[in-house]
Amino acid sequence: MSLRFLLILLNPYLTPNLISYFMTSEKAKTALKKYFGYDEFRPLQEEIIQSVYDGKDTVVIMPTGGGKSVCFQIPAVTMEGTALVVSPLIALMKDQVESMRAIGVKASFLNSSISSKEQFEIEGQFKDGTLDLLYVSPEKLASQDFQSVLGAAKISLFAIDEAHCISSWGHNFRPEYRQLKLLKTKFPNIPVIALTATADKVTRKDIGDQLNLVEPKLFLASFDRPNLKLEVRPGRKRWEQIVNFVANHRDEAGIIYCMSRKNCESLAAKLQAKGLNADFYHAGMSSDQRNKTQEAFINDQIDIICATVAFGMGIDKSNIRWVIHYNLPKNIENFYQEIGRAGRDGAAADTMLFYSYADIMFLKTLIDQDGANGRELMQSKLDRLQQYATSPVCRRKTLLSYFGEYLADNCGNCDVCDLPPTSIDGTELAQMALSAVYRVKGQANSELLINILRGSQRKDILESGFQNIKTYGVGRAYTYLDWRAYIEQLTQQGFLEIALDDGYKLKLTQASQDVLFKDLKVKLVKPASIKEREEIAEASAVTKQSQSETFKWDKDLFKRLKDLRLRLAKEAGMPPYIIFGDKSLQEMAAAKPITREQFLTITGVGERKADQFSFDFLNVIKAYGQEKGIADADMFKPMLRASVKPKKSKVPKSAKVPTRQMTLEFYNKGLSLIEIARERGLKKSTLIDHLLYYHRDGLEIDFESMVDYDEELLKKIKDLVYQQEDSPPKMKPVFAGLDERVSYDEIKLYFAILETRGEI
Ligand code: ADP
Ligand code: ZN
Repeated sequence: MSLRFLLILLNPYLTPNLISYFMTSEKAKTALKKYFGYDEFRPLQEEIIQSVYDGKDTVVIMPTGGGKSVCFQIPAVTMEGTALVVSPLIALMKDQVESMRAIGVKASFLNSSISSKEQFEIEGQFKDGTLDLLYVSPEKLASQDFQSVLGAAKISLFAIDEAHCISSWGHNFRPEYRQLKLLKTKFPNIPVIALTATADKVTRKDIGDQLNLVEPKLFLASFDRPNLKLEVRPGRKRWEQIVNFVANHRDEAGIIYCMSRKNCESLAAKLQAKGLNADFYHAGMSSDQRNKTQEAFINDQIDIICATVAFGMGIDKSNIRWVIHYNLPKNIENFYQEIGRAGRDGAAADTMLFYSYADIMFLKTLIDQDGANGRELMQSKLDRLQQYATSPVCRRKTLLSYFGEYLADNCGNCDVCDLPPTSIDGTELAQMALSAVYRVKGQANSELLINILRGSQRKDILESGFQNIKTYGVGRAYTYLDWRAYIEQLTQQGFLEIALDDGYKLKLTQASQDVLFKDLKVKLVKPASIKEREEIAEASAVTKQSQSETFKWDKDLFKRLKDLRLRLAKEAGMPPYIIFGDKSLQEMAAAKPITREQFLTITGVGERKADQFSFDFLNVIKAYGQEKGIADADMFKPMLRASVKPKKSKVPKSAKVPTRQMTLEFYNKGLSLIEIARERGLKKSTLIDHLLYYHRDGLEIDFESMVDYDEELLKKIKDLVYQQEDSPPKMKPVFAGLDERVSYDEIKLYFAILETRGEI
């Protein structure tokens, strides 16, 4: 029974509002299938489109690749009049218009790159109402002579893309965006939809204010991108690891981000020498060279780009299958934006970050040299990235918590989930390392120290007489690399220091004393070898392929379909991913459709593309079937598409969010305990309980920064705790033992600190 018929039957029971809701949502869904070839909306898309249909001003915050464009493109094709889209990225307009035309949407663009004759023609079409969608630059929209054109056309909505550009709080302020304020004054009844991937709270509010929006509806999507595999690898033997990685990603498009231009070039040369299709990209090249390289990458003529962060801003390529960070980025925002360029088509994509303590030290020196401005902030942002790379918690949990989201379950798509780290009692290891440092009087860097611990017969060691110290050779049972990992962990836990101004030699700290002389227990994490990691990564890629939630496709057929796509793209003079995304080809290679009807069931195949391309693609699929001796009747196996359930990642929404989660949100935004208490009207002790909950769930909470930290006091409290027989320990005896001079709140915080250190 059709929805329409059902509605007629139910008509007496439905309110006019409900009817219009069902009708419009049916309209939107039909358009999604007809034009885009998608069966389901992604989370929030439908609500956002409804808000535009209702004529409301709308603000949309969604990560890159989340599916923002659909939110104005569907209204554009279903509402009367032309949708005007303002975008600052002139270079992208042509691509976007081509994509729209390829699915049968009447679209055009106006910006400074177009001749005045062409402009005149397009303006004519706009006034005649023959366009669904018109992209314009902000300058064009605000220009004097465009105003009369605007007045003469019928406009369905204004979409402001990259809306953070309007805010001077944002990171990419464009003065020309300020003129967009006039839209609401001149066209008060036309809905404005503002979209961006990056906006903190201040910018978010500023967007509404600067555009003069009327009580805008805010839609904040989850920042989770579940199709991105997250992996951190030790930054050792990077080249070998890359070679193995790309061998498992043959013919796939990927980016390797490097810190230095020189490194981009040498890495690209080494990859080329291995017969791989690689090139480099950085700001030191002429703009002509850069454009050429970028175009070649977009058109699938180059697979691998070794690039500095200069690369990626202006590209919309949806079939980037992997991103490697050769060096550590400066902060989580940059990191997330860079890996976000992978897998925009929703198909699985891999990301790998190389981490080493040396990279951290290098970035720290850069920050120090950078001078005073914002140094502390940069430092703390780097700390958060380090936490992401080193803490033994599900990577996605750590990453999302940075953006104020709480993921209830481990993600199952990161290296920590694949290979959970084993905690060990590292007290003895720590004692070996620290006493060796003590005995060489702080005169060894980590490499020398490890060689002493392992009893190396190296000439320089023997000449310095290190073989005579008591700890020589006590650590033989562990490999060099294990020791490196342990020493790094000891440094991170504050038991060792690296002297930057003294040849990176290892020095003891205050905390070392407790290990050496007071038998303090130390927890360490057993490092997994690179080989182990590689095996697990491969195994998990294989199981993912065989799981029914994704699906298995025929690799050989997929390759042929890709070749066909490349040929058609060349003929049409457009990027291959505009013809079909990787996901569509994967589905074709799995379902093997041989009729037009079957072809239309594939994700991303709308009516226009079926008309244009079914002949060529079905022919390749049919020929493949014949070659393999498969009967026609056995070819097509419809995709079993379990409706995509959004992961259990929750975006804080004031009303429904558990109270402790709101506390975490404030904590993640950097508010102090007192500020949170004021903001939330709760007692400090309640907030500490909230945060302890998350600590026990594996998040790193910095309780130390919440007290006026006093090592002596901590020790006293610890003694008073150990004198008790109660478990968990009570606060009252501690309060009394400190002559009632220290508040309960503070004692509670010290308890929390002891708990995070595993001491109670
Ligand atoms: P954004 O503008 O937020 O970066 P896009 O709008 O470009 O993201 O969407 C990213 C990709 O996801 C595009 O290839 C788009 O066609 C696809 N997409 C969007 N909505 C859906 C959907 N409902 N189902 C399947 N794919 C979708
Ligand atoms: Zn995980």
